[in-house]
Amino acid sequence: MTRKIKCQNTECTAMILPATAEKTDGVCMPCQRKAKQIAKEKYIRENRKDIDPYQGISDLVELLKINFEISQKNYDPLINYLPCKYSSEELYGMMSQQQVTQLIDEVVQNNAYYGDQIIGEIALFTEADMTNALIFYMELEAYSPSYMFRAASSQITQNLISNVSTNPDKILQALSSIRTDQVLAQFSQWREHPPKWTAELFIPPEEYARCNGWELDDNAQARELTLGTCYPLIAKTSVQQTSIVTTCTKSDDTCHWCNSPMSNLFEFDLRESQLSFIPFSQEKLIITTCELCASYGDHLFMKIDKDGKPSWHENNQRPDYLPDIDDYAPLPANTLTLSHKAGSVYRSADPFSPTIMTSQVGGLPGWVQDFSYTPCPDCQKSMIFIAQLAVEDIIDYGEGIYYALLCPDCSVSTVTYQQT
Ligand SMILES: [Zn+2]
Ligand SMILES: [Zn+2]
Ligand SMILES: [Zn+2]
Repeated sequence: MTRKIKCQNTECTAMILPATAEKTDGVCMPCQRKAKQIAKEKYIRENRKDIDPYQGISDLVELLKINFEISQKNYDPLINYLPCKYSSEELYGMMSQQQVTQLIDEVVQNNAYYGDQIIGEIALFTEADMTNALIFYMELEAYSPSYMFRAASSQITQNLISNVSTNPDKILQALSSIRTDQVLAQFSQWREHPPKWTAELFIPPEEYARCNGWELDDNAQARELTLGTCYPLIAKTSVQQTSIVTTCTKSDDTCHWCNSPMSNLFEFDLRESQLSFIPFSQEKLIITTCELCASYGDHLFMKIDKDGKPSWHENNQRPDYLPDIDDYAPLPANTLTLSHKAGSVYRSADPFSPTIMTSQVGGLPGWVQDFSYTPCPDCQKSMIFIAQLAVEDIIDYGEGIYYALLCPDCSVSTVTYQQT
């Protein structure tokens, strides 16, 4: 039997065969791998070049095309592309209507290679008339992103309805973003007489309405599950900066399930006119939850009394499994502030959008998994989405999104969490 010798790394206790030591300069395989990794990282640090692909370019359309080209490039650790001065949302915000229209025409006429991304972004960040793009994409039987159809003409709507059996999943999503009487009547008809193609769907056709934040009520009318206004929650530039929406402040309540302190995930000052789109009749709306239990996906409901104070809802169902309290570190309080500039209500709606994983008040939620408009425990109606908090906005390498929902009629709130 060969006698093993100690790995040369003084911090390592592994014993290795002399034959291995000869090949590795005396260290064990894991230590050798680690040393190689460190050398590689050092090489990258010392040799990486900063490249500014936007240097000297001010034309907004050119900047967008460069954005697209960079996004298509294979990752090269030796090149660090400096980011564009403006986010895509800002670039589209600065473009004139004429520039946007020209861009749509350019995509459609030249079948431009960057077309899909740019058309999606135009639909997301501008109010532009998409008709030409819609006709073009329908010929290609391309129906995503669905909000591209948000203002489709009744002719285009009719064409979608006629073609629905060719791609029910995508076409129903497109129809849900149109939400006109024509679509309501059609959804209602499909609800009463489900056609054959509905057999291949996981949900009934009318429930696709939820993809765009509404549902078909018993009277075949649209019931909104989201708010028609959206403001991003952005990082504070200084600790002193105040905000009419505070995040993750400490609550006096304790979670009845895990006994850890609860947090006011959001507190809205509803005396401020900027928040008048939130349908709640009190001066304050406090959404309290247990960050820990909510992150395990169980709906934890709070009942808000007439003075605005939330308390534990008596119908909360204790989950079978509870998370480990020892892992719990509360999210940092008050790191975000409400932007004064409204964003697109669709800014989080598409999984490929550059703004999906961001915090916001109002708009369509960026569901990471399936949409989750929980029924209110008091009236059984679907609750309304109020705001979302993306954990990565407040902690480095944070993951997942907390979603706050409200039943304004019953003053009941809930928080749910999703991650990839
Ligand atoms: Zn070792
Ligand atoms: Zn808890
Ligand atoms: Zn209710």
